[in-house]
Amino acid sequence: EYQLASSQLQFRILLLGDADVGKTSLLLRYTEGDFWDDQPPSSTVGVEFYCRMLELASGPRVKLQLWDTAGAERYRSITRSFYRNTVGVLLVFDVTNRTSFDHIEDWYQQVASMQVPDKVLYLLVGHKSDLQQARQVSTQEAENLAAVLGTSFLETSAKTNSNVALAFETLAHDIQQALQNG
Ligand code: GDP
Ligand code: MG
Repeated sequence: EYQLASSQLQFRILLLGDADVGKTSLLLRYTEGDFWDDQPPSSTVGVEFYCRMLELASGPRVKLQLWDTAGAERYRSITRSFYRNTVGVLLVFDVTNRTSFDHIEDWYQQVASMQVPDKVLYLLVGHKSDLQQARQVSTQEAENLAAVLGTSFLETSAKTNSNVALAFETLAHDIQQALQNG
């Protein structure tokens, strides 16, 4: 069936969270299927995005435009324009880094302070779930925070590829539901 390119659904999704929690690794695992144990191959500071097509269970094909802060989070230098037209945010912390968990509410507030006009949907992500020995944040604590923020919660690992696709797909599905319900 012929479809105009411009009618294609596109969701702009941001990955937010402290430096080193694994945002770029999550993106590269999902869009390229790779994982780098040392450092993902992206070092320049700036904003970058990755795309992936997704067939939602409810029918439509959507293009996910996934934005990485690409180092800018380290300097708290994320500009307002980065948040424009955003419909989804993955709030990412590292389950082995307590501070990154404590900062999640700051990241959440930051989106609100940018006064993004669209309704933004969130998913809380506890990343590096493969590092069970070094865990500093329990699943229960994270679930409690998710309840406060009114989001879902998933634990992911880019290293073992656990729940990576599920995280992006859960958020995309929630966005689609919200669009349908006006
Ligand atoms: P970013 O600064 O949030 O983009 O984080 P990076 O993606 O650059 O990852 C920071 C470090 O954590 C790198 O050394 C990655 O190899 C490592 N890392 C990322 N994801 C995982 C994971 O799921 N498990 C483990 N064990 N290490 C990870
Ligand atoms: Mg990065």
